[in-house]
Amino acid sequence: MPIIKKREIEMLAQMNGEEIERFLENLPATKDQIEGLFDFLEMKLEAQPCNHTNRFTMQYVMQNMMDFGKVSGWLSNNGGYCDCKIVSEISVPWTATFGDS
Ligand SMILES: [Zn+2]
Repeated sequence: MPIIKKREIEMLAQMNGEEIERFLENLPATKDQIEGLFDFLEMKLEAQPCNHTNRFTMQYVMQNMMDFGKVSGWLSNNGGYCDCKIVSEISVPWTATFGDS
């Protein structure tokens, strides 16, 4: 039987305070930067549909001088394979836990 590693983001809703702290410490960027990325993607995708790449994510990461390798690795580990997936798979459970920025 294959071992299915649960995505960290899917566990967010069940995490206690200490686990959430650890989750935030291990983010590839600051919490504000990640939330800024979600806002940016939602705004961009309203104007233009996702072409199923992470072009808008890349744009945001470059503008904010974040570490693209680290950020995109974290996003794809959590199911965010393209801009619209980052919103549906990561931003949604994130907002459910942390609220709207
Ligand atoms: Zn997409």
